[in-house]
Amino acid sequence: MEEELKKKLFRNQSTGWEEINEEERTQINKVSDSYMDFLNKAKTEREFIKEAKELADKNGYKDIMTFDTLKPGDKIYFINRKKSMYLAIIGENPIENGLHIIGSHVDSPRLDLKPNPLYEDGGLAYFKTHYYGGIKKYQWTAIPLSMHGVIVKTNGEVVEINIGEDENDPIFTITDLLPHLAQDQMEKKLKNGIDGEDLSILIGSIPLKDGAKKVPEGVKLNILNILNQKYGVTEDDLTSAEIELVPAFRARTLGLDGSMIAAYGQDDKVCSYTSLHAMMELQSVKNTAVCILSDKEEIGSMGNTGMESHMFDFFISEILNKLGVNKPNLLEKVFCFSKMLSSDVDAGFDPLYASVSDKTNAGYIGKGISLNKYTGSRGKSGASDANAEYVAWVRNVLEKHNIRYQVAELGKVDIGGGGTIAYIIANKGADVIDCGVPVLSMHAPYEVTSKFDIYSAYKTYKAFWQE
Ligand code: MN
Ligand code: MN
Repeated sequence: MEEELKKKLFRNQSTGWEEINEEERTQINKVSDSYMDFLNKAKTEREFIKEAKELADKNGYKDIMTFDTLKPGDKIYFINRKKSMYLAIIGENPIENGLHIIGSHVDSPRLDLKPNPLYEDGGLAYFKTHYYGGIKKYQWTAIPLSMHGVIVKTNGEVVEINIGEDENDPIFTITDLLPHLAQDQMEKKLKNGIDGEDLSILIGSIPLKDGAKKVPEGVKLNILNILNQKYGVTEDDLTSAEIELVPAFRARTLGLDGSMIAAYGQDDKVCSYTSLHAMMELQSVKNTAVCILSDKEEIGSMGNTGMESHMFDFFISEILNKLGVNKPNLLEKVFCFSKMLSSDVDAGFDPLYASVSDKTNAGYIGKGISLNKYTGSRGKSGASDANAEYVAWVRNVLEKHNIRYQVAELGKVDIGGGGTIAYIIANKGADVIDCGVPVLSMHAPYEVTSKFDIYSAYKTYKAFWQE
């Protein structure tokens, strides 16, 4: 009787792996494999949007600007400056009933080149960087890095850079001090061990030769000469560039049991990919389904490609215009009746660092999609706190579709918390809850997720849009 009562009343604490059958295992591996393939092609926001456009085009989506009018069933997208993207399927229900939005971000922590990056010192050439997002700087030294991005010339020509992913490419690295001479460094606090200003990328060591004459700054000149021959650029052109250094690791299966994935940039591409993948499988929907792939989340969602931008409002207004239903304040009304899953990763419980989590309120690897009713810490500061009614609505959708989920907080009350794009859409009046995959080593060059949770995220997003 005790066991029965427990089964009925206690929260299910088992891992998802204990409950799956062979057919589901096959599905889990299928989604994980396509996710890893995608990650290897899309390490930066520009690359993600490029791949997403290709996928959308293949699945019958078209640029909203090519439509004069829209009707239920139409599949559309808008690409914002090659770095963020909104996709939608027009629903059968009147759009006044609200949208079903799933929003994630495609930018990840990394090292950006400074505007004037190139210098030579001690016979070596370097690129200076300014890190992007919250990183633990010591993790980014002594690992292979690849270079991705664009250099834009004054005539508008865009040169695409991608060096270090192919096996035959060179890679780059940031050197660290040998332990033998690191006595002073090792006494420093971890956060001060490596200075931001010292995150310089080693890029060359051969000086350009002018006959027998020694050329001052010859290594730097040689690098510029290589760049000029390869891309037709000069030192000045590097000032109008966006070049990102990211780990040159490939996404890999992790663990003897093959249950996990290690990869760079899973925050938040694990949610971006699973939501995009789910949207590609939808045909018709009751409520207009919207997929947001936003940029700049890792530095506060500001700027014209971040979620704070009016670009998203423009996209929805354009839908209203082309449906022929727009009238004053309809945009606000649509937002106020919308529902959203802010699909961003959760901090997975890590037994090695158990003291930062409340064990009964943490998200666990392998226990399914993780809902964060609120983020924020020390008194829920700055949090968008989802209404109980909405949490219940989401739970009902998940339970109806037989999807494993957990409801968690990000860390202990007084320890910390995180921010996502949830509050931005919630401030417009929509019901929003954070809903994503738990991650270990978040923001590290190599992040860990569970294949079970990735599959659970994909099923969650699809179910939410089908409601
Ligand atoms: Mn995130
Ligand atoms: Mn993040």
